[in-house]
Amino acid sequence: MSRKKLIAGNWKMFKTTAEAMAFAEEFLQKIDKTEHEVAICAPFTQLSSLKDAFAGTAVKTGAQNMHFEEEGAYTGEISPLMLSEIGVDYVVIGHSERRQYFNETDESVNLKIKKAFEHDITPIFCLGERLEQREAEIQFDIVRTQLNAGLFGVARNHVNKLVIAYEPVWAIGTGRNASPEQAEEMCAFIRDEISRLYDKETAGSVRIQYGGSVKPANASELLSRANIDGALVGGASLKPQDFIDIIHAK
Ligand code: PEP
Repeated sequence: MSRKKLIAGNWKMFKTTAEAMAFAEEFLQKIDKTEHEVAICAPFTQLSSLKDAFAGTAVKTGAQNMHFEEEGAYTGEISPLMLSEIGVDYVVIGHSERRQYFNETDESVNLKIKKAFEHDITPIFCLGERLEQREAEIQFDIVRTQLNAGLFGVARNHVNKLVIAYEPVWAIGTGRNASPEQAEEMCAFIRDEISRLYDKETAGSVRIQYGGSVKPANASELLSRANIDGALVGGASLKPQDFIDIIHAK
């Protein structure tokens, strides 16, 4: 089964709209043709402008979070209806920074994944173990638990469109990436688990990205692995040239 790799930037809470527009201009000028799919997951306030800037190109947009209700008295939240009105393609769900600082739980992740699919927005479902969990050699149990909880009740015809980002927490923003062997081992494990939960064909169509300190210098050895279907890139997606070098890594 051949899967198109997805290289997605996660801008976190960086860039004003003016900075985002400057990025888009330089990025579109410099990027060459690529066989990969490319997306930028930006702060909410940049999404409409980026969508306009990328119109007529293959570059997709994504949000970094959303609420699991369509509307309601949830001050400060953004709903799937609001995101689909903008026309975003992706939404990052369950990023470790949201789990750590904003009480995101496996249960809310599950509700958000289901709701995103209802609105035709593809979730990028983030999971991964913390450093002490890897040191205790329980990383596979942790990831299995997150995966089972996140996919609880998610239909097969949705799962086959899902993107999963394996992001070991100890590798995010630390400059210390997982080795290609560690990343491949976990991505293969996730695929086996999906095969067990659903079936082989479904597991073969899910795209599983690696995220955690991906840079131009380590991108090609990570992206060349059989079960790594792209990258979720934080810091290195903020500079057009670095992000382009990752997309074109050979
Ligand atoms: C991320 O934000 O998902 C991420 C992986 O960050 P970084 O690439 O900076 O480690």
